[in-house]
Amino acid sequence: MNILIAEHLGFCFGVKRAVDCAEKEIKNKGENLYSLGPLVHNPQLTDRLKEQGLGIIDDIKDIKAGRVIIRSHGVPLNIYKIIEDNDLKLIDATCPFVKNIQKKVKEFFDKGYKIIIIGDKYHSEIIGINGWCNNEGIIVNNKEEADALPEFDKICVVSQTTNRKEKFDEISNIILKKGKEVKLFNTICNATDLRQTACKEIAEKSDAVIVIGGFQSSNTNKLVEISKKYCKNVFHIETKNDLPIEKISKFNTIGITAGASTPEWIIKEVISTMENYNNEEDIRKALEDSVIRLHRGEIVKGKILSVT
Ligand code: SF4
Repeated sequence: MNILIAEHLGFCFGVKRAVDCAEKEIKNKGENLYSLGPLVHNPQLTDRLKEQGLGIIDDIKDIKAGRVIIRSHGVPLNIYKIIEDNDLKLIDATCPFVKNIQKKVKEFFDKGYKIIIIGDKYHSEIIGINGWCNNEGIIVNNKEEADALPEFDKICVVSQTTNRKEKFDEISNIILKKGKEVKLFNTICNATDLRQTACKEIAEKSDAVIVIGGFQSSNTNKLVEISKKYCKNVFHIETKNDLPIEKISKFNTIGITAGASTPEWIIKEVISTMENYNNEEDIRKALEDSVIRLHRGEIVKGKILSVT
């Protein structure tokens, strides 16, 4: 069996930053520590952080004291005011890329532009972004919703960071015809693009693809979607325990990718489980390379590691 590991997989810069931030605060052992919503969409990591002392709250009004971590997805503007009013200690781990979108949305909303956000209205990143334009943005997630938009004088368009480029292009081309002046910002994150491109590359070359990541993780589900486009046999798993060993053992070449919220230890466990095939050194190197390249922001053509 050949195992093809995607060139870019696992933690993105923003998620790694948020997790590092939480782990550092846990070690500081100060006042009670909470994250507003699960820190990442990965149940195993969430459980691990909970065991170490990170509480999770759904509503900022649920606490009257302590430290609050804002996760990488960000939050609406009014949450900062509540944190300040209640004298809570703010640890802002909003991903800088998401922060840029929030600032842009506020800037153009204040200048009188209608804000249109391309994304999933239930996703926390989108709920957060909309909170920077007084929740008056219009959220569209498909061609039909874009077609149904009325016309405006001035429009500012941003995208959920995890959208596929083709979807952004399709919807934004429709929105371009809806305003006299349209400011279009492709705010899809480079990390998303790198993972999706690397995913396509392995899916095209594999008999089966294993996508590792939370079942509720939006970016992981998009990797599943992409894999299915290029490969007939796709398995979405959260941990090594979900591996369909019997089913995959009949395939010659198996591709592996993982969402941006999937910790490295889960990826390693899956790979190790799949192996007799075990070659620890190569796996470790592939994972490290992936992180280093992402930090440098380089786009490197998908080198694929083959472990036999
Ligand atoms: Fe930040 Fe991109 Fe990761 Fe989202 S996917 S948290 S925007 S680095």
